[in-house]
Amino acid sequence: MAEEIPTRTGDAFNSDDETQILDAIAKWLDRDVKDKVLALDHADEYPHEMVEQMKSLGLFGATISRAYGGLGLPSSTYAKIVAAVAEVWMSLTGIFNSHLIMAAAVERFGTTEQKTRLLPKFATGEIRGGLALTEPNCGTDLQAIRTRATRDGDSYVINGTKTWISNGIEGNCVALLVKTDTEIQPRHRGMSLFIAEKGPGFTVGRKLKKLGYKGIDSAELMFEDYRIAADNLIGEEEGHGFHHTVGGLELGRINVAARGVGVANAALKAATSYAQIRETMGKPIGQHQAIQTKLGDMATRCQAARLLVEDAARAYDRSERCDMEAGMAKLFASEAAMENASECMRIHGAYGYSKELHVERYYRDAPLMCIGEGTNEMQRIIIARQLMQRNPV
Ligand SMILES: Cc1cc2nc3c(=O)[nH]c(=O)nc-3n(C[C@H](O)[C@H](O)[C@H](O)COP(=O)(O)OP(=O)(O)OC[C@H]3O[C@@H](n4cnc5c(N)ncnc54)[C@H](O)[C@@H]3O)c2cc1C
Repeated sequence: MAEEIPTRTGDAFNSDDETQILDAIAKWLDRDVKDKVLALDHADEYPHEMVEQMKSLGLFGATISRAYGGLGLPSSTYAKIVAAVAEVWMSLTGIFNSHLIMAAAVERFGTTEQKTRLLPKFATGEIRGGLALTEPNCGTDLQAIRTRATRDGDSYVINGTKTWISNGIEGNCVALLVKTDTEIQPRHRGMSLFIAEKGPGFTVGRKLKKLGYKGIDSAELMFEDYRIAADNLIGEEEGHGFHHTVGGLELGRINVAARGVGVANAALKAATSYAQIRETMGKPIGQHQAIQTKLGDMATRCQAARLLVEDAARAYDRSERCDMEAGMAKLFASEAAMENASECMRIHGAYGYSKELHVERYYRDAPLMCIGEGTNEMQRIIIARQLMQRNPV
């Protein structure tokens, strides 16, 4: 009998369903994605065709409940999908990850009207986007944001600038973190989260140029007297935006950790193959102990990262507080991706530096995971605080 997999949404799900979904994703990656990645990545070209395929696979509704047209996947299954996709091209995961965190904020904290109106369109990808939190002056210190929403009758008028927003150009909607009260203390009580669809007063800047994470758009968003109906305020009550945002970051960190697992695995696989093909001093380099110790460390990091992600995802699915577990998974898996990408490049020698192989891309993509969804410096602090809170003296 298939094993029951718990879900946060309460949708029934079992291990046979998981196998089927992972098989479908693997086939898609093999058939429609893997041979196109080098060209798209080097041209920094948005993968429109793949986005349509991701819609058909249901990825834009992966963690949205079935009641709203999603797949209702538990985050443990979703994390495996993210790792599999990131192993082939990490950028693709960014197109549906932050979109699903926006959807999770609506499903967890939105009103019934907001869920019914928005979630079915999020699930099909008809409305899609991401999270607009970061501003030119602040990323880690979100309580310092300056984007301001002022109530005016049945609507709010929003002014301010967001930056580094994934899906900002190709998407049509964002979960927008603003200040609704700039005086109140503590500062987070003056923050609110809106679902903001594009319209007059909401303009988008150019696609930002980046080291890696190519293809997907990162953009500046400008709000100038952007007017939005008050019923787009998530939960309809001001002052809870920080809580709604931080609540979504647990899932966000599990997602980023899963991306780390994908990139770390890709680097390990490439290095393991190459070590058996390339010869020096009359034998494959994999027969030299200096290379074997690298492969041993890389494989151990992959396994440990995967287990940490699974542990955090299961806690999330059981609706437990898991900021410590998600932080550990994110910290370890992203650093594992960095270290494995670097070691993979060394094992490949000059070829690791070549644009004709995927290896140099792992090296360019990995650092993002140490920055996004809370920097790794902050993860260490979150873990330490939770550690003391859970172990008072
Ligand atoms: C490719 C890309 C995509 C992104 N996508 C999005 C997106 O979709 N939506 C979005 O809102 N944002 C996005 N971001 C922004 C990202 O979330 C921020 O860059 C991140 O939160 C860090 O903020 P910052 O860059 O302002 O760094 P800062 O907050 O200025 O931090 C600078 C350094 O100081 C350290 N630091 C800061 N405070 C402390 C402290 N209290 N203790 C110890 N160390 C500290 C940090 O760890 C870091 O090393 C994206 C960024 C990139 C590069």
